[in-house]
Amino acid sequence: MYSENFIKNYTLANLEKKIIELGYEKYRALQILNGIYVDRVQKFEQISTLPNTLKNILDDTFLINSIKLLKKRQSLDGSIKYLFQLNDGKSIEAVYMPWYDEHNGEIERITLCISTMAGCPVGCAFCATATLGLIRNLDTSEIIDQILFVENDLSIKISNIVFMGMGEPLLNYKNVINSIELLTLPENKLLSRKKITLSTVGITNKIKQLANSRSPVKLAISLHATTNGFREKIIPLAKSVKINDLMDSIEYYYRKTHLPITYEYIPFENFNDTFEDAKRLAKILKRVPSRVNLIPFNDISFTGVSGLSQTLKSSSKEKILEFGNQIKEFGGVVTIRDTFGTDIEAACGQLALKEG
Ligand code: SF4
Repeated sequence: MYSENFIKNYTLANLEKKIIELGYEKYRALQILNGIYVDRVQKFEQISTLPNTLKNILDDTFLINSIKLLKKRQSLDGSIKYLFQLNDGKSIEAVYMPWYDEHNGEIERITLCISTMAGCPVGCAFCATATLGLIRNLDTSEIIDQILFVENDLSIKISNIVFMGMGEPLLNYKNVINSIELLTLPENKLLSRKKITLSTVGITNKIKQLANSRSPVKLAISLHATTNGFREKIIPLAKSVKINDLMDSIEYYYRKTHLPITYEYIPFENFNDTFEDAKRLAKILKRVPSRVNLIPFNDISFTGVSGLSQTLKSSSKEKILEFGNQIKEFGGVVTIRDTFGTDIEAACGQLALKEG
């Protein structure tokens, strides 16, 4: 099955072109998107605004769904890890995370963490997905279908999307940007740009390209170290992307979009959690309006990998608190993040297609 067979690979402009090629009026494209994204039809014949001849052509030409559920695991904290199968048999994961109001205990927002690749080529030492290597990029429909599937499955409306699952989104730029365009198209009634966060290790030319695109979203930078030497030890790609160059691209992004930046930082014991790190991190945070999320390291020993990932140890809770306070004293804005789904290996850095 080719990617052009999946209807969700088409942005509005591309679908309009295709519909004209098929001999129909341009406005039919929007009616089709409305059927797919608003009414969530599972067959083209259910789109009542279309003429029967076009419905038949669409049935012969396109498929609506590009992923199917293989397995679902629910955590004690309410998060759910979805294992999906793609059309060619490859697998990916997505994680549903409900955030509860601490006063009344009701769900106040729902975040879905989605994948942009099967596997990942970047090789971060703290990440289970890295052990898979790159299997392949996801196409636009496979990215979007993770959201539509979970919404339909749980009969809920997802309030926030984070491109933080398997893969480096900016190395699958075109499909990611097309998915953002479809997700934020007002007529599709899905999400606003401000509800979407894209997490990257820092592909500087693509950060600038995203800044200049029609759909810039919130950016989260996987920083994890404050010197080039230490960053290179845990993110191989950092050998070619120095922190100064990364900061230049981030400043450019902020100037163009005025969207505040989030940094992600996993404090590792006696590695990147020193007083000097706190000082340097605060300095980085003050370059443009930003905050840092301190994320406790999640165990990835279940992947059976050896090397640095086996020697990296999470800083203790007390140390993370102290590190956070030091950053604050130097003027940085800090959040210590809750971890979702550790009991089902669904937490940050733990996605590795383990089915157990
Ligand atoms: S942290 Fe992100 S970029 Fe790094 S290996 Fe994992 S999925 Fe890839």
